[in-house]
Amino acid sequence: MKHSSSCENMIKYQLVARGITDERVLKAFFKVPRHKFIPIDIEHLAYNDSPLSIGEGQTISQPYIVALMMQTLELKKDDIVLEIGTGSGYQTALLAEIVGEVFTVERISSLIRNAETLLNKLDYKNIYYKFGDGTLGWQDGHPEQSEFDKIIVAAAAPDIPESLTGQLAMNGKLIIPTGNRTFQQLVVITRTEDGYVHTNEGGCMFVPLIGAEGWEK
Ligand code: SAM
Repeated sequence: MKHSSSCENMIKYQLVARGITDERVLKAFFKVPRHKFIPIDIEHLAYNDSPLSIGEGQTISQPYIVALMMQTLELKKDDIVLEIGTGSGYQTALLAEIVGEVFTVERISSLIRNAETLLNKLDYKNIYYKFGDGTLGWQDGHPEQSEFDKIIVAAAAPDIPESLTGQLAMNGKLIIPTGNRTFQQLVVITRTEDGYVHTNEGGCMFVPLIGAEGWEK
């Protein structure tokens, strides 16, 4: 009860009031219980307008930035989506509410283990998990999948990883925060018949994407 009114307020004042209009995105935010993805001692902050610590030096992103990235990707119900940076699993659940299949990669073993346990408990059946370096995409993942309609990266890269653009399907879209370690631009790359088209969705701040095609540490 307490959580459902906080969730409604989050949607109204943080998302709709700032221009999130995609009904599928709003419906997913309504359905997924954000407080279940937050450490118990700060559960009361779950619907705040900010990122929160989830342990291991990592964060669950601010609700608005997650909604903006999802809306920008123009998600469809049959999309196959690659998510880099599972973290708490919250965004994974939001994606799984909307699209056909979600393939998620996380480099910190305790985070992906906890996320998988929770998402199984919440009965999501359309998610595949990989522990490893997501700068390389779904390389050597199970089940095999070589191309994705959408790719969403929830950590900041110094440059766009070529392995990720290489796994984008024709007409697919990749969204990734790109810049230095403190401030980045949200870059969208669309694969077209004529090549990759880049657009910029504005400034943002994310934890670093660490790996072979990201930051060293
Ligand atoms: N979307 C997540 C959620 O809803 O909780 C939050 C993601 S958090 C902002 C970024 C995550 O990216 C962290 O969990 C971090 O460990 C992960 N990460 C950083 N570099 C990575 C890499 N190369 N491959 C996979 N995950 C990575």
